[in-house]
Amino acid sequence: MRTKIVAGNWKMNLDVETSKKLAMDISTDIQNLETNNTRIIIAPTATNLYPVFHQVGMDTRIELAAQNMHQAKNGAFTGEISAEMIQSIGINNVILGHSERRTYFNETDTALAEKVSTAIQNNLDAIFCFGEVLEDRQTNNHFKVVESQLQNALFHLCEKDWKNIILAYEPVWAIGTGETASPEQAQEMHAFIRTVIAKKFGETIAQNVSILYGGSVKPSNAKEIFSQPDVDGGLIGGAALNSTDFVALIAAIQ
Ligand code: PEP
Repeated sequence: MRTKIVAGNWKMNLDVETSKKLAMDISTDIQNLETNNTRIIIAPTATNLYPVFHQVGMDTRIELAAQNMHQAKNGAFTGEISAEMIQSIGINNVILGHSERRTYFNETDTALAEKVSTAIQNNLDAIFCFGEVLEDRQTNNHFKVVESQLQNALFHLCEKDWKNIILAYEPVWAIGTGETASPEQAQEMHAFIRTVIAKKFGETIAQNVSILYGGSVKPSNAKEIFSQPDVDGGLIGGAALNSTDFVALIAAIQ
């Protein structure tokens, strides 16, 4: 059975105190939820990872993720953080390739291929984000674009690496826009992603990898999206910034 995952990407929001409070609120609000077989991951900004980890570290239901990392082991890369640094504070997950990183910070598939390898070598789970822009969808190129993003960043992996991979399909036109892919569009793409992975790595890996959907998921649309057979959860932006909505999304996947 594939693991279900609800991951909240807090982006560049919240200071240390409000981050700790949100994490504590989530920890309290999930108390009455049956969260078996669901990983709950929150991704505060880098400065708040360590304080939040300490705040909710005793709550084993909540995992933390960094929002990015550099591919190099260490060195003269001002402003960057490494996989080892993330590991050294007890955090085991990292989001890679978010469309905002690709768009505003010019992250390329080549750099992402290296980042994914570095994350795995350091025993981090990589939440690998990818997805087409609006023009790709309007010109019917979305399958081709997604296939090439997967090929370029993940096809160098070996089979055993896949235990550290979580895929997050995030159509760029749906991120932070209020516009969501329909459940049918999400299912169609997730099924396609599994066929791409199966062709290269075999059916077992394709069936076992968790594929999250991201793009304006909120309590009002989550249930329908999460109930699609190839959707294993969500990567959540806006709705991850308050506990009531985020916990409603966790409830929607049960
Ligand atoms: C995201 O940033 O990954 C995201 C899906 O954002 P939102 O839920 O706000 O669209």
